[in-house]
Formats: sequence, structure tokens, C-alpha cells
Amino acid sequence: MAQNSQPLDLEEALQRLFRDLPSTPSQETLPLQDAYGRVLAHAVQAPLDLPPFNASAMDGYAVRLTDFSAQPEQALRCLGESLAGHPYPGNLTPGTCVRVFTGAKVPEGADQVLLQEEVAQISGDLISFAPHHPSESYVRPIGHDVSAGSELAHAGEVLHGFALGALAAAGVDQLSVFALPKVGVFSTGDELVDPGTPPTQLQEGQIYDSNRFTVLNLLRDAPCETIDLGRLADDAHTVQQAFEDACERCDVLITSGGVSVGDADFVTATITALGELNFWRLNLKPGKPLAVGRIKNCHVFGLPGNPVSTIVTLLLLAKPAIRHIAGAQAGGTLRIRASLATPLRHSRGRTEFQRGIASYNKDDVSVAVTGDQSSNRLSTFQGANCLIEVPKEAGSLEAGEQVYILPFNGLLA
Ligand code: AMP
Ligand code: MG
Repeated sequence: MAQNSQPLDLEEALQRLFRDLPSTPSQETLPLQDAYGRVLAHAVQAPLDLPPFNASAMDGYAVRLTDFSAQPEQALRCLGESLAGHPYPGNLTPGTCVRVFTGAKVPEGADQVLLQEEVAQISGDLISFAPHHPSESYVRPIGHDVSAGSELAHAGEVLHGFALGALAAAGVDQLSVFALPKVGVFSTGDELVDPGTPPTQLQEGQIYDSNRFTVLNLLRDAPCETIDLGRLADDAHTVQQAFEDACERCDVLITSGGVSVGDADFVTATITALGELNFWRLNLKPGKPLAVGRIKNCHVFGLPGNPVSTIVTLLLLAKPAIRHIAGAQAGGTLRIRASLATPLRHSRGRTEFQRGIASYNKDDVSVAVTGDQSSNRLSTFQGANCLIEVPKEAGSLEAGEQVYILPFNGLLA
């Protein structure tokens, strides 16, 4: 049935795709230092206040403000010092102060740190200060950063540097994370040769396989484990056998090539024969032929073979799906308004994603198209930092017209 259906708009395809995806992966516990890039399975609450004690924000002297209310210039007797990791053990009594350093505990009874620059005179253990006009206490109270019980990291969060640092600051070192989905990556095509073969040894009609390497590397920052499954010949039996094997050991299978209606296109037929095809054509440029379905519990993305189409459909559909399967909360794609620095050619009918170089120009973001946008031209990604979204109803656009761009920073995260 799906074979006869009309091409889908991207939004509808995403809805259909996500309806079909599982979202409860199994869990494991990992030490903090091994959790980078993993998806947190449960929210983590702070087990303590941070800082856990009243801490000095500056080098100076811990004092009691009341000591200055009657006599602003009085000298205080210094009882000792409080260093980071070596607190002064006693309390501050009237008429006394304690030398403190940044990060050290402010002794009980003190409510103000006077900066060392405010010291007027030191005579033995008597410290006198310049007349004091408090603007800040320079005391970081208990819980100033984080209060005990508040959420440090949420379920479904992909753990990067900020969250891991915050968890470390709270002393958390064991994390419950979701297991990584296994993503198998194939290329298909009789014309493909692995990089490394010298150009002089290429047979007529052969080209190097780039898609497998692009896909494997673009998935490095996704919460998944990739498996390089090599290249497949354009042979129905080979493709079917390889899919059957791969689906036994992978949660997701990504192939490129062999999804259009040419004689040597076996991917769509194999998904239909072994499982269910969800949809296979999109109102998208590049990326019109795209076979999405399931074989048993394995989600299969038959991406188009043209290298630009492979990348665009990977970023817009397959990668968000992998994040979802991995248990990650939807990140939401960052879209920024920009004005075109160059004209843009587009014919009505399909939403198009062209490659662009965006830059700041005074208060405006402007974006230049990276030349001829044919879907075979991997070189359109050279220097590019975003996709330019061209609505399906738009015609060609002039320089100066407004568009939305999707920065790769957002798409690659
Ligand atoms: P197909 O979808 O198999 O008809 O492929 C469409 C175009 O993409 C053809 O020009 C293929 O040679 C090319 N192509 C397919 N797979 C790859 C690949 N892995 N690396 C580079 N180009 C490819
Ligand atoms: Mg092919």
C-alpha cells in the first residue's frame, strides 16, 4: 500500500516515523567518566546544597557587620585564618575577625567579608579597616548555586560537558543511562569501491564509496553505537540476505542507494518483502526517494544514494529517529531567520534544503548559497555551516529576501 502512496511532506513523514518508534531502551549504570554522550535514564537530584557551607567569594576578612554599626572605624582582633579546605574551627565573637580566602568557609557568626584592599592598618593581631560601605557581602551562602533536592539533570538529557560537570560538583559518580541503540550502516551499488584504491586502478564507471563514511562519521555525536557493515552489490539475493542478518543484530539499519525505481534498486523491495514499508517518497529536495520501514524490531532507513541526499535525509529524519530510539528528549531544530546574500534558484513543488554559508553582518544574519546545488555535489558542503530551508510554494528568491536557516551546530548535536 505504501508503494502507491503520494510523496509525503517532511512534517507528515516525521509524524509517521515517530509514531512507529519505540522509546524505552534498556538501562545500565555507568561511572561519570564513561557517561559522555549517553542519555540519562532518570532525573538526578542534588544530594546536597552547593556550596555546602557559607563560602568566601574573595580574599579578605570575615567580620560581623554589627561591629561597625556603632563605631565604623574600629580595629578588630584577628583570631586566625580560614583557607580553602582548612576552615577556621571556631566562631566569630564580637570585636573579632578571621582572615579568609576565596572558597574558604566563612566562620559561624560572620556575615560579611571585607576585602583585603579595605584594610587600613595592621598592628599585631589588630586589623583596622577603612570606613565600610557594604554593597555586597562577598559571602556565598549555603545553596547559593544549587539547593539540595533540586534537579541537576533531567531524564532523556544527552550528557555533555556542562551536565557532567554539574553532576561531578554534586559528588554524583554513578549514572543510570539508556543502552545505546546499535546502528548498522551499509552502502549499496556495484559501482562503489573503497577509498584507498589508487585512482589509476579504478575501472571505467567506478566511484569511491563516500556515503558509508559520511554516515558513520555524522553519527559519531549521536547517542548510538555504529557498526560498519560494508558495501552491498546490486543483487536482490545479496541485499535480502544482508538485511536479514543485519536486522538480527541492529536496532537501526541505514543504507544508501538503491531506493529509487531503477532496475538495480532493491532496498525498497527488500523492506517490503521482509517487513513493513512505512513510506518511501518525500516532497523533499534533495531526498525524494527515501524508504523508511521496519523489519522485525529493526528500523530501516533506505537513504537515497546521491551523497547530498544521503546527508540531508540522515540529518532531518534518521538522526532524530536514532536520538528518539536512544531515549533522548527531542532537541528541537534550531531555525534562524537570515537574509540571502546571493540569489537562490528553486522550482515550486518540493521543500528544498540548500547548503549555505551564514555570517553575521551588523545586526543581520546573512547567508550565501554554496553554488550549484545538484544532489551529487558533495562539494556544496565545503565551507557550509547551515542548511537553507526553501518552502515548497516559493519560487526562486532574490538576494536580500528572508529565509530560515538550520545551523549544522543544531543539526549535528
Ligand atoms: P542510487 O540511489 O543507487 O541510484 O544512487 C544514486 C547516485 O548516488 C548514483 O550516482 C550513485 O553512484 C551515487 N551513490 C550511491 N551510493 C553512493 C555511495 N555510497 N557513495 C557515493 N555515491 C553513491
Ligand atoms: Mg545504486
